[in-house]
Amino acid sequence: MNTDLLYHADSYLRNFDARVLAVREDAIALDRTAFFPGGGGQMADHGLLAWDGHDYSLSGLPKDDDYIWHMLEGPLPPVGATVQGKIDWEHRYRMMRTHTALHILCGLIFRDYGAQVTGCQMYVDRARMDFMLEQFDQAVIRAIEESANQAIQADYPIKVYVLPREEAFQIPDLIRTKINLLPPEIASVRIVEIVGLDLQADGGTHVKSTAEVKGIKVIKSENKGKNNKRLEIALVDE
Ligand SMILES: [Zn+2]
Repeated sequence: MNTDLLYHADSYLRNFDARVLAVREDAIALDRTAFFPGGGGQMADHGLLAWDGHDYSLSGLPKDDDYIWHMLEGPLPPVGATVQGKIDWEHRYRMMRTHTALHILCGLIFRDYGAQVTGCQMYVDRARMDFMLEQFDQAVIRAIEESANQAIQADYPIKVYVLPREEAFQIPDLIRTKINLLPPEIASVRIVEIVGLDLQADGGTHVKSTAEVKGIKVIKSENKGKNNKRLEIALVDE
């Protein structure tokens, strides 16, 4: 990857300068970017790129092995040009709060029920999560919602760091989240830890402590089979 992923080191970075490394028909590649391209269930960022005194809207962030491509509506700057990126912070910050909320749920559903999460997807106004749990009634659903809000209020710190592959593969919490599925060529693993609650290999952007999530409510639940349950949550804003 030739694009330095600024959001991996600092998820609160909203504006950045970068240099154009490559240009194709509808997109440019930069030496560095704070735009999250989407992945792991988290939606891609929205925002603007500015050069020559004009703002241009991002229309997509496709990713390949070499670059994150910034698709733009309008003319493209040449290789070597300097551009300024501006993240749509309202959208990104909701994604950060939602993503952390899902990790809180992962941690406490495992802690309280020994159940594994099998998938998740975030949307603008909600998120869904699938997990392997047999018992699933209103009492369980309310208990999960209550524990999540308690964990949010308890304000657990969230740490992000990188571990060598061998070291990460020794950690039981990471083994349970199927770290073994990582492709063999990946030599180091980015870890997102809600200290005392959840530990995952993760490439997404998160808030720095659980209180920033503010609160969640369960808006839908679905029984998708003996061992397959789905919850939909939404953020509570005050
Ligand atoms: Zn995640």
